[in-house]
Amino acid sequence: MNKDFQGIGMTSQRARNRLVEQLKKMGVRSETVLEVIKTTPRHIFVDEALASRAYDNTALPIGHNQTISQPYIVARMTEALLADGIPENVLEIGTGCGYQTLVLSRLVKHVYSIERIEALLFKARERFYALKTRNISAQHGDGNLGWPARAPFDGIVVSAAPIGVPEKLLEQLAINGRLIIPVGKSGGQELLQITRTEDGFEEKRLDSVSFVPMLEGVG
Ligand code: SAH
Repeated sequence: MNKDFQGIGMTSQRARNRLVEQLKKMGVRSETVLEVIKTTPRHIFVDEALASRAYDNTALPIGHNQTISQPYIVARMTEALLADGIPENVLEIGTGCGYQTLVLSRLVKHVYSIERIEALLFKARERFYALKTRNISAQHGDGNLGWPARAPFDGIVVSAAPIGVPEKLLEQLAINGRLIIPVGKSGGQELLQITRTEDGFEEKRLDSVSFVPMLEGVG
């Protein structure tokens, strides 16, 4: 194993258990999701200098003006995605450091992930490779366009906030498929759950949230 991926041992397991207890108190109910958070190393997704804070329930900087999402948000989005059954193929927009991608890959059959900043994508891919994951495909591109060649998706998770829901993502959702997406300007974003039905879309508001903006084009 690469030295960067060697754990901080028991300390990190204790810190992860503590994080899971916090998430439970905050209302995360899914045992499946909590178990995955408990067993997924988050410290390898941040710079070594920040590793001691990796199991704090906060967003942390990952460079390029981006952040690794707060664990509570990752848990909440994943729980909402899985609430009515496990999706087979999931599209993720905003790979970032790849933490949410890895969490998803431990729960569904295949994760397709798109990142607009190439340097972040390459680093995330190295981590997936080092962790020997086999069910993640990550690509450089503009998530506003989705991944038409692999559509339709049973689930789509977006970890950057557009002003409105991108049309292409709705188009690429399977019937009964579910889209979890933060929408709105910074300071007033809502996390939405949109489910595709036979004859349209059903929308539910989940939370007030704060995400980095979803930008147009590639970085
Ligand atoms: N999923 C990450 C969160 C990363 S932050 C985690 O687990 O922590 C959001 C990411 O979305 C950033 O890396 C940003 O570059 C990316 N992003 C923003 N707009 C995008 C777009 N249009 N297409 C793809 N990625 C985008």
